[in-house]
Amino acid sequence: MLALVLLVPIVALVITFVGNPEIPAGRELPGGARLVKDGYVALFVLPAGDGNVALIDCGNDPEGKAVLSELERRKIGVESVKAIFLTHGHRDHTQGCHLFPQAQVFALESERELVEGRSNGKGPLTRLMPAKDVGVRVTRPMIDGETVAIGSLLVTVYAVPGHTQGSAAFLAGGVLYLGDSADAKKNGAMTGSKWLFSDDTVENRMSLLDLAGRLQPRADEVKAIAFAHTGVLDGFGPLRAYAATK
Ligand SMILES: [Zn+2]
Repeated sequence: MLALVLLVPIVALVITFVGNPEIPAGRELPGGARLVKDGYVALFVLPAGDGNVALIDCGNDPEGKAVLSELERRKIGVESVKAIFLTHGHRDHTQGCHLFPQAQVFALESERELVEGRSNGKGPLTRLMPAKDVGVRVTRPMIDGETVAIGSLLVTVYAVPGHTQGSAAFLAGGVLYLGDSADAKKNGAMTGSKWLFSDDTVENRMSLLDLAGRLQPRADEVKAIAFAHTGVLDGFGPLRAYAATK
């Protein structure tokens, strides 16, 4: 019986991860941004002018080895990280945030409790993981559709509830950052969020369809779509194609 209890989640995890593209460490993105591979998750460093940067998520490593080495490569220190934009509050995206105490932390207001460890996920697996405060505080709650400037960098946020209640997509520097709200497949297609870790995959799909419609007027601006666990796809096409599938 114990073997079965262990086997079910292992099989579910294997199904979830087999067939995923590799995370391309160091992949350059439009606008001078770069993917930083932190184990099985990615975060992104975006230039904001004057030697400053913003981050999309902070990774899973509390010591931040990968992100700190990227800052070193850019010859800047932690004080140059002016802002952190959180796609959502799952811990593998927030554990490095404490390394940048001077950065403003942006997230949708609806995600604040999860980010700050006052509630846990509602997904099949995430609900089993107790809420934990990893020391992150949302210093600048965002509202759906707003655009903020960090130096020369403009970041627009779109609410995409489903993976978590307050999941956010960010459009910045020609890249659409989707966090865990979607994934790339090896064949170059885009797919919705992973059931095992998501609060509500039906809501996630509705949010992605809505996002595709909202972004249609800005489709030419989207040069790439970046995912937290499955790398990067080129252009707006993968989101448009996903939205067109039944
Ligand atoms: Zn997640």
